Amino acid sequence: MSSDAGIQIPSRLPLLLTHEGVLLPGSTVRLSVDSPRNMHLVSQRLLRGTSLKSTIIGVIPNTRDPEHDTDDLPTLHKIGTAGIAVQVVGSNWPKPHYTLLITGLCRFRVSSLLKERPFVLAEVEQLDKLDQYTTSATEGATAGDGELGELSQNFYQAAVQLLGMLDTSVPVVAKFRRLLDSLPRETLPDVVASMIRTSNKEKLQVLDAVSLEERFKKALPMLTRQIDGLKLLQKTRKISPDNEKRVLSVRKGGVFPGRQFNLEGEDEDEDEDDTAALEKKIHRANMPETALRVCLKELKRLKKMPQSMPEFALTRNYLDLMVELPWSKSTKDCLDIRAARTLLDNDHYALDKLKRRVLEYLAVRQLKTSLKGPILCFVGPPGVGKTSVGRSIARTLGREFHRIALGGVCDQSDIRGHRRTYVGSMPGRIINGLKTVGVNNPVFLLDEVDKLGKSLQGDPAAALLEVLDPEQNHSFTDHYLNVAFDLSQVLFIATANTTATIPPALLDRMEVLQIPGYTQEERVEIAHRHLIPNQLEQHGLTPQQLHIPQDTTQNIISRYTREAGVRSLERKIGAICRAVAVKVAEGHRVTKTEAVTTESPTQQGDKAAPPEMPIVIDHIALKDILGPPLFEMEVSERLTLPGVALGLAWTPLGGEIMFVEASRMEGDGQLTLTGQLGDVMKESAHLAISWLRTNAKTYQLTNMVGGPDPLEGTDIHLHFPAGAVTKDGPSAGVTIVTCLASLFSGRLVRSDVAMTGEITLRGLVLPVGGIKDKVLAAHRAGVKRVILPKRNEKDLEELPANVRADLDFITAVNLDEVLNTAFDGGFPGASGSTHTHPQLTSKL
Ligand code: ADP
Repeated sequence: MSSDAGIQIPSRLPLLLTHEGVLLPGSTVRLSVDSPRNMHLVSQRLLRGTSLKSTIIGVIPNTRDPEHDTDDLPTLHKIGTAGIAVQVVGSNWPKPHYTLLITGLCRFRVSSLLKERPFVLAEVEQLDKLDQYTTSATEGATAGDGELGELSQNFYQAAVQLLGMLDTSVPVVAKFRRLLDSLPRETLPDVVASMIRTSNKEKLQVLDAVSLEERFKKALPMLTRQIDGLKLLQKTRKISPDNEKRVLSVRKGGVFPGRQFNLEGEDEDEDEDDTAALEKKIHRANMPETALRVCLKELKRLKKMPQSMPEFALTRNYLDLMVELPWSKSTKDCLDIRAARTLLDNDHYALDKLKRRVLEYLAVRQLKTSLKGPILCFVGPPGVGKTSVGRSIARTLGREFHRIALGGVCDQSDIRGHRRTYVGSMPGRIINGLKTVGVNNPVFLLDEVDKLGKSLQGDPAAALLEVLDPEQNHSFTDHYLNVAFDLSQVLFIATANTTATIPPALLDRMEVLQIPGYTQEERVEIAHRHLIPNQLEQHGLTPQQLHIPQDTTQNIISRYTREAGVRSLERKIGAICRAVAVKVAEGHRVTKTEAVTTESPTQQGDKAAPPEMPIVIDHIALKDILGPPLFEMEVSERLTLPGVALGLAWTPLGGEIMFVEASRMEGDGQLTLTGQLGDVMKESAHLAISWLRTNAKTYQLTNMVGGPDPLEGTDIHLHFPAGAVTKDGPSAGVTIVTCLASLFSGRLVRSDVAMTGEITLRGLVLPVGGIKDKVLAAHRAGVKRVILPKRNEKDLEELPANVRADLDFITAVNLDEVLNTAFDGGFPGASGSTHTHPQLTSKL
């Protein structure tokens, strides 16, 4: 079949032996080359040569097992395809190799081997005419020639039939169609065999079919098999473009073994269904243009990946998230200010100031829909209802509610997500929250913004700032998503225990609404209006079964809880409900068994008679259920020795009473301080001692043996017990002075008095913060008298009337007045010293 006309390939060809498949004339494949002979062929022939001729090589399928590829030249397959190397790419990683892009030209037969090293060179005989590929003859040379003509006609028709079953908008199919129309018919078996799904063995059969007739005969069954397969598939489902790509091998020429088209394999079918469904979902997710583009690109990659690849799961998860996100799903706001007021009032007792401000905020939102105002931030001790007010706001607006706990978050990727390059990467909490609520305009409660941490992994506060900034948050980009999501419809509310630790930039964007603790009376009201009904419901009880009288509630509050909010009160009520629920259930059981076993009612009845309804919780029942009181008489008990005074402290958890204890022992004037103190507190202690030493004579203060200097031959130990919270701030000054004055004088401090105030070296009392919280704490602890700095008098106006009525307030300008009130019957020398520095007050 050697040609007398047309283009001749060189009669001596370097041969490339490949395990990677079969190159057929008319197709293009990419071959990876790394064996020594092939490497030499590329480096010494392809890369050195300058003529077109030197780019032509012979490709011989190596049918031997690559494992046994030794130095010896294997027995060569006799027939190969001469091809032109279109591109050579070299790489050193992971080991030196070349990748060749080769287009098959024509068959050849190996006549004899000329040399084996450094690469194989052989004398070859050209088997196909080459010009048939270069001239685009439309009428086939064989058309109408007897059996061959018929074969070629059948083949052509089968190819057309296959084409008819596919969607020509898919690029591979379009190419197939183009080739079918433009190529001479003799070339079709080669071209079709390389494009449809065939095994290497089948391709080898086509390659070996030197006569055209035989080639048609070999290739036709492959084609019809493909058609039958498709028909079967179409019967079961509508074919998707994705399936079509699989029918035609996507890899160029199909030399790389791709995924086999598997009609039985349910896995693959399911997988196809799955991606098709995913694609539909992507289009239905209503996402912005950019996000859609990214999704479609990822989907395309996904389709090409084998499922076993770890990246498959990653990409799949990503797409699932993208599809689930509420890109344009939102709830409709239904804000009616009057209804909102009722709802807030119904949900929460007291909190008037807060509720007023929230209503204003909502009203402005109603008037101006695109509110770019500050973020509301509720600041107050735990259990005062910050979260539950947030939830009520969501309800009044008819929006979804989601709480994002920020306590302890110290990695910015918690907010902004991890990049997808990390294994186990995830979106941040904002995006996760949106996925959970399923709408893009929820109320997000950023809980505990004051507890944000900082670490090497970036500053979460900065990320949060981006989330909250109305100028930026319409295109918030989570690292995991890597496309912008519009957060401008989200209503953010923050909560914190204290503003002190909120990062300043964040605080700047917020409008702080303080919620101080509740008074005793407010707590009783909250318990009866909200907590008890709620707890009853949660435990399946009714008011007909359980009754908690007001004075029991008061008892719980004063003797079993000591808190600014109502959280542990709620827990105690829960404990009562549980205990009662057991009783009620037991009662039920007894009545039921009685009904069944009427013969022996006495036995059962003796054991447990059904309790009388409702069960009333009196003081005795309370003690039975909750155990002995936790906070009984602590204050008066502890003030029974000289050297103890009661101070008032402010902590992020609300106001607290704080005992200051002092003792002295023989020594050389050392001062020891214990109890988690900050620097400012230590300074206060030194100030107090200095002032007392200076005024020791006036107040008749002595050391252990009655000497005029209280510190002479004496060591002092000051301790601030209770709580692991670091105490700092100057407000313990007056308490330390009182405590030490008691120690040095041997007199007891009044057991019903608590105090707060900063001191100066000259004995003045300066104002301090947190008065409201502190006074409430004193009131809770059953204190009757509170000593405050004179200049804090104005803060008393904020207190509820009943607290003011219950307590005696003594406002002091100097330490003299403090000592005078703190001890029964005044303090010796106090009256004289009141006039010592009266003029100093005005100088401050
Ligand atoms: P926080 O977020 O401030 O720590 P929560 O909102 O979790 O506190 O409140 C704790 C419990 O106390 C909730 O069950 C809440 O309904 C209830 N609660 C707090 N304050 C009030 C109030 N003023 N009226 C009614 N219930 C309240």
